[in-house]
Amino acid sequence: MALSGIQIYKLLPQTNCKECGFPTCLAFAMKLAAKQIELSGCPYVTEASKAQLAESAAPPIRLITLKSNGYEVKAGNEVVMFRHEKTFYNKPGLFIKVRDDEDVEVIKAKVAAADAYTTNYVGIDLVLDGFAVESANESATDAVAKFSAAISAIREVSHRPVILISLNPAVIAAGLRVVDGEHPMVYAANSQNWAEMADLAKQHQASIVVNAVSLEELAGLTEKVKSKGLEEMVLDPIGPGLSRSLTLHTQIRRLALKKNFRALGYPIIAFPENAMAAAQAIAKYAGFVVLDRFAPELAYPLLVLRQNIYTDPQKPIQVQPGLYEINAPKPESPVLVTTNFSITYFSVANEVEGSGLPAWLLVTDAEGMSVLTAWAAGKFDAERIAKAVKGFNVADKVSIKRIVLPGHVAVLSGELESELPGWDIRVGPREAVDLPKFMKQTL
Ligand code: SF4
Repeated sequence: MALSGIQIYKLLPQTNCKECGFPTCLAFAMKLAAKQIELSGCPYVTEASKAQLAESAAPPIRLITLKSNGYEVKAGNEVVMFRHEKTFYNKPGLFIKVRDDEDVEVIKAKVAAADAYTTNYVGIDLVLDGFAVESANESATDAVAKFSAAISAIREVSHRPVILISLNPAVIAAGLRVVDGEHPMVYAANSQNWAEMADLAKQHQASIVVNAVSLEELAGLTEKVKSKGLEEMVLDPIGPGLSRSLTLHTQIRRLALKKNFRALGYPIIAFPENAMAAAQAIAKYAGFVVLDRFAPELAYPLLVLRQNIYTDPQKPIQVQPGLYEINAPKPESPVLVTTNFSITYFSVANEVEGSGLPAWLLVTDAEGMSVLTAWAAGKFDAERIAKAVKGFNVADKVSIKRIVLPGHVAVLSGELESELPGWDIRVGPREAVDLPKFMKQTL
């Protein structure tokens, strides 16, 4: 169980030396109890106290990292149940599963397509994270050969991290040899094979999925695996159906965060059977999601959903302020103004780009807020717009000094005239969708 601030305080030197940046040891202890700082902040903790405090200082959900050839997928270290409480940190890794009974050329083609898939969402490139290989018949005489061949086929076309799926330790051992030196994931340790699987995972620096049909059994298994000296674990609470998996995922998260129940303080892996189940797993609370096929129409909404859920709600997605060229503008093309909130920028840029009309798009630094929000917060006013016009040397690019304000901030036009003498200030439409018509008719 987690120690309280007072219990932690009793284990600290109590000298109030302030070297940790806090005025007293008690203040440090309170922050440590709230998991807002790390124990290493105090250089004077004795080894005996460290051992007692380590458990309390550890994150409630262990950080698990898969690595391979420069790629990294992290899950865990989450501290809240709901995104609006703070933020979710590590986006669940999206993996595509292949089976080793498929022809290696088919495997290569599938993996290459998924590996190359990338889509741009509000200026951010979104990609899939890795591949899972399943042994289709793990008791067959050629199981080891087929599994190894499938993993080798993946490595010919992708260097992303892998998850190796088989309950047969001999098959897993062969797979681990193919990706030796990487940090893959092994699936799975159960009540029968956990000891052998744990040894293999430890030997190859792999993390291991532990699966069981009840949370009690799952917690018991993680304790057993931990007794083997392996802490890099991921949970697979077996529970078919949306409702059952939602319940299990929520219980695990709640036990880890609210009760500091270490035996279930690990990320969760999910194998959703359809898009809806995958969306649920991303939202609640999988750290790894394995899809049984790759299709752009499935990958795109899941990547976007993941991006939106794992964006810090307190930090809007921003684009770089500057003067952007749309459709190769000429000196006589109009200058449109907007803010650097990503969605606002892309709404305006996409509408104008789609119309084929050339324009200069002046993006002001509004701390990532949309037009109306920024205006209300005093981050998008005549002074800031004028500063951007001067800072980005807009006058040097255009022959007609004409600037178009978003319709929502028509009220700024008078002030902007004073800030930018000699400029023709126009008020554009309120919505980006009406910009092309406005440009055609009035500019
Ligand atoms: Fe106390 Fe350690 Fe901070 Fe010094 S550095 S005030 S001993 S907690």
